[in-house]
Parts: sequence; structure tokens; C-alpha cells
Amino acid sequence: MTERFWWFARVESDRPEVDYPSGSVLPCSVLVTQARSMSDAFLPLLYESHTHTPLCKHATGEPEEYCYHAIKRGLRGIIFTCHAPLPNGLSPEVRMSDSQFPAYVAMVERARATFAGKLDVLLGLESDYAPGLEPWLECLHRRAPLHHVLGSVHYQMSFYRERYFTGDILAYQKIYYEHLALAAESGLFDTLSHPDLVKNERPAEWHFPRIRDEVERALDRIAATGVAMELNTSGLLKAIPEMNPNPEQLRLMRERNIPVVLGADAHRPERVADGYAAALMLLAEIGYDEVNIFIDRQRQAIPLDLARRSLR
Ligand SMILES: [Zn+2]
Ligand SMILES: [Zn+2]
Repeated sequence: MTERFWWFARVESDRPEVDYPSGSVLPCSVLVTQARSMSDAFLPLLYESHTHTPLCKHATGEPEEYCYHAIKRGLRGIIFTCHAPLPNGLSPEVRMSDSQFPAYVAMVERARATFAGKLDVLLGLESDYAPGLEPWLECLHRRAPLHHVLGSVHYQMSFYRERYFTGDILAYQKIYYEHLALAAESGLFDTLSHPDLVKNERPAEWHFPRIRDEVERALDRIAATGVAMELNTSGLLKAIPEMNPNPEQLRLMRERNIPVVLGADAHRPERVADGYAAALMLLAEIGYDEVNIFIDRQRQAIPLDLARRSLR
């Protein structure tokens, strides 16, 4: 162990004696059976499925620090999903450049090697979606073996705003949901991230009943694709301080059996798995009995009761 990872030794002794192969080897179903048989013992099951690196220029902390916090929270793994490059160097201030992509892969691989046997550290990506980006994204997602690909419609990106915001906020909210549905139908993504983010553009003008029909139509289309949607706890830090999506939308997702993936969207190490306990409770209240993770881009379900018990 190198000097810079001295803090890792602190948690090592804290960790239970569990055989810990890579998530890509051992499916969750095996672990769930194991967890059921260990009535009191603690078995890590959950992952942080949405987290960043300094390469996006608005996150701080080395990947190993995020890993350290994942272990402290009782997670089984962490999937780095940093902001992907866009064609022609679009919106460079909040993402890695195209030429930094190999450095990103190497950075996650370094953390994976450091935490081997202790935490399942996996490579993923948060890719921006807008109509027309599909060919770029198809190539990008083939450049490295990814475990989890998030599809994000970031209404606040200047290129997106310039193209789609005419000054009519209701129309902007509607186009956001249209693009979420198109993102799901593109087949490029595993999970649609923070799927009501647009509510933070002019929060005073966000009235869910006003847009409910459009949301329902978009959710029907998303449900038909089988793509998952995220419950993102970082929404609590935004202009409308509630998780993304809001509980009404989450209820509509439940009615359509849309699978949910949890993510804290950590841009600093201490936020790994932040709000997970509250998010799991909310999912249970809404009527969900499972939460999901993606490994090798395959969805795996974890029963909520075991997920809640596994957290620290
Ligand atoms: Zn970000
Ligand atoms: Zn993110």
C-alpha cells in the first residue's frame, strides 16, 4: 500500500470477513441468498452507481477517497460515472475532454487495483443526451468496457438551452420529458439520471399537475424500453430541495414497474451514498420492494429490506 492511501488501512480492519469477488463474477442473487442466511451479520450489498472524478472540473477528491467513503457507508461497490466528453469539445467546462478519456479509464483502474478484494470498483459513464448525439454516443460507449451508463438530459447546458429554450418554460419542461423518452428509446443507456431535473429551471414555475400528462406519456414510453430510472439524492441540494424525481413521479414510475437505481451523484467523497437510507425508505413507502444496480450493463435487483440492513 502506498503512502497516499494510508487512510484505507483504517477501514480495512473494520470490514467483515466476506469473500469479495468482483461484481462482474458474483451475481447479486447469490449474495442476497447469503445475506438472508446471516440474520444479524452485516453483508455489503449496495453500490454507489453515480459518482464523479476531478476530470469533470467541478468534482473534488481522488477516486480512492470516494472508495474509502463507500466502504465506510457499508457499500459493496462503487461505479464511477463521470461526465462524458461531447463532440467538437462542446461544454468543456463541466466534463473531461475527449483526449482525457483514456486517463479516466486508467484512474478508475488504479482505484480498482488498490481496493481489490475490499470494494468492487467499476467503470461507468454519465453521458449527455440530446437528439442527434446518438452516433457519437454509440462510438463513445464502445471505447471501454462500461458497467453502467447513465443518460442525462442536462437542461442547463448552454448548447442545450440555446437549441431548445424559446423563453416558454412550460414548453421547455415538456421538451425535457420528450428527450428523456427519446434517450430511453435510443437503447444507449441503462439508467436515466435525475429524471425531473428541469424543475430547477425557474422553480417557481414548476407545477407537477400542469405537466403530469406529458410525464405519464413519457413514462409509458420509457417503461416499454425496460430502461431504469434513477432516484438521485443530490436533488436535496438543488433549488427545489427534494430528490430527483419527485415523489409523485416516483409513484407513476412504480405504477409502470420502472426499475429504480439509487445514486448520490457524489461530486465530493463525503457524499458517497448520501441520503441512501431516506431514499430506500421513500421507495418502500411508494410501494417498491427492490432497488437495482447495473454490473456489466445487466440489471440486478436487491430486496429493499436487505438493502436497508446493509447500510452503515
Ligand atoms: Zn456534475
Ligand atoms: Zn452526475
